[in-house]
Amino acid sequence: MNNTISSQPTFDAGLHARLREKLAGLGLAGMIVPHTNAYQSEYLPLGDERLLRLTGFSGSAGVAIVMQNCAAIFVDGRYTIQSRAEVDENIFEICHLANTPPGEWLRQNIKPGDKICYDAWHFTPTQLGVYETAVEEGGGELTPVKINPIDALWPDRPMGSTSKIKIHSENYSGLSSYAKRQMISASMKKSGISAQIISASDNISWLFNIRGDDVPYTPLVLGFAILYSDASAKLFVDPKRFDAATLSHMGKDISITEPDKIGDALDALGKIDGKTRIAMESIPLWIKSRLENAGANIVTASDPCLLPKATKNQTEVSNIRKAHIRDGVALTRFLAWLDENVVSGKMIGSVSEISVAEKLESFRAEHEMYTGPSFTTISGSGPNGAIVHYRASPQTDRMLGKEELFLVDSGGQYPDGTTDVTRTIAIGKPSSEMKDRFTRVLKGHIRLSAQIFPAGTAGQELDAIARQPLWQIGLDYDHGTGHGVGQYLSVHEGPQRIAKRGVPVPLKAGMVVSIEPGYYKEGEYGIRIENLVTIVGAGKNNKGPDSLEMLGFDVLTMAPIDQNLIETKMLEPDEIDWLNAYHQSVFDSVSPYLSKETKAWLARATAPIKK
Ligand code: ZN
Ligand code: ZN
Repeated sequence: MNNTISSQPTFDAGLHARLREKLAGLGLAGMIVPHTNAYQSEYLPLGDERLLRLTGFSGSAGVAIVMQNCAAIFVDGRYTIQSRAEVDENIFEICHLANTPPGEWLRQNIKPGDKICYDAWHFTPTQLGVYETAVEEGGGELTPVKINPIDALWPDRPMGSTSKIKIHSENYSGLSSYAKRQMISASMKKSGISAQIISASDNISWLFNIRGDDVPYTPLVLGFAILYSDASAKLFVDPKRFDAATLSHMGKDISITEPDKIGDALDALGKIDGKTRIAMESIPLWIKSRLENAGANIVTASDPCLLPKATKNQTEVSNIRKAHIRDGVALTRFLAWLDENVVSGKMIGSVSEISVAEKLESFRAEHEMYTGPSFTTISGSGPNGAIVHYRASPQTDRMLGKEELFLVDSGGQYPDGTTDVTRTIAIGKPSSEMKDRFTRVLKGHIRLSAQIFPAGTAGQELDAIARQPLWQIGLDYDHGTGHGVGQYLSVHEGPQRIAKRGVPVPLKAGMVVSIEPGYYKEGEYGIRIENLVTIVGAGKNNKGPDSLEMLGFDVLTMAPIDQNLIETKMLEPDEIDWLNAYHQSVFDSVSPYLSKETKAWLARATAPIKK
């Protein structure tokens, strides 16, 4: 399912010059080129890598603006170092998104009368809003293009996937597409909504119980859909991708239509009586404008698939558990291999970050249900572990060395679940500072994992619990504590998250989130301990009339945590109890699938700590 990963997107060093020429020919002063596509995909198909094609920048977020006499690329803090290595600074000024937002840069560089173009498929209304005021204040004008000039200048642009769509079995999803559509259309009827536009591809894949290989790492089907209040739907995906079995799975009340016919279907919504609902955070501006021009009665609200997709049913949760045990077997075998060959010193000097990541991948790939990684493995040794979104490249690839930490954040896709797990391993003897920091991260991880909280609590109210042991000595980590995860879908899934800021979505039983506190010492080492957990009911904690309905976390990830890095005397007795119980459950669930030798290794790795 990951054939798109093997071919790499290409950079065209002369594109910026030809783009300027083309824009000038069209009477345009500039163009905004974001790292997105019509589906707001986190991972892009090759033919949507326009930002990389133009600038050489291969990060997962960013935007470029090309004007006739100047150009800039805007990246966030994760990507400042990487963008300097990849982008020619004689052509593109590299700006930090927070310090010089693209709107602000545009305001400074625009001249009255300048027309700045954009592709209306690649912006949500919210995203374009950032530029509207800036361009207006500069006396310029924003204008959508009919044909994307970059595509016009990209002769061999890879086309989208043509592979057959796969059915996501009800054995995994626990709910038929019909039942899901019934549930959503019932709520549409209540609000007087006749048609709901669905443009987020994970919502489409979830709603119709279908999967594809349209983007790397996530088994998404890219397409658009209109769901009507009678639970029927139009799906805009190439009909040739559906074979007879998939067509009968879809059922008669879903019509599958060529994507370029969507305009006609949107025009038709201008003629119906009821309201058409769109989600401003994911809908392409093109669709919204078309609906407006057709005279549709538009209302806006977040996509109704978001919450039911995030709140997994019992069938989904029990499947996700199976995927985690399978993944835990692969990870345990890898950690045992690492211990015997690298931590022991045997292969020190001959094992690099990339080769270790490949080794881990080979253990996962042994299982027939494994369909590919859920994101690019972060394999960071020594100082590279301190780069939060590090991706080892042939230029940065580093041999694992003695007396240092190794951080590996990886995940797999299986038809029954998506995994994401980080472990930090000591190679050689860790310093007392490393042990102190690791134990603080572990304490934060345990305290949050063991916390119960009243129903209605949002992730941002819990975030500080995982940071407290680091805050105590004036330290912190510069990323969120947890994100939602899909079932055989996106490894980063909303709407819930555990972070300092964000949309306050209450955590609900069935949701899956990560708990991943860390600590990063620039130039020296990085630490992160990440498990996925599911939210479960914890009942009423006392019998009093004022007692609240409580929720808690149940751990899904099954892999040992390196005990060589733990300073036992820093742990409270109940934290030791939690760790010992966790390690016991890792041993119980994973050991039946291991060889005698690896089982013995796991028994040592999960041996209880004495208080
Ligand atoms: Zn991770
Ligand atoms: Zn994660």
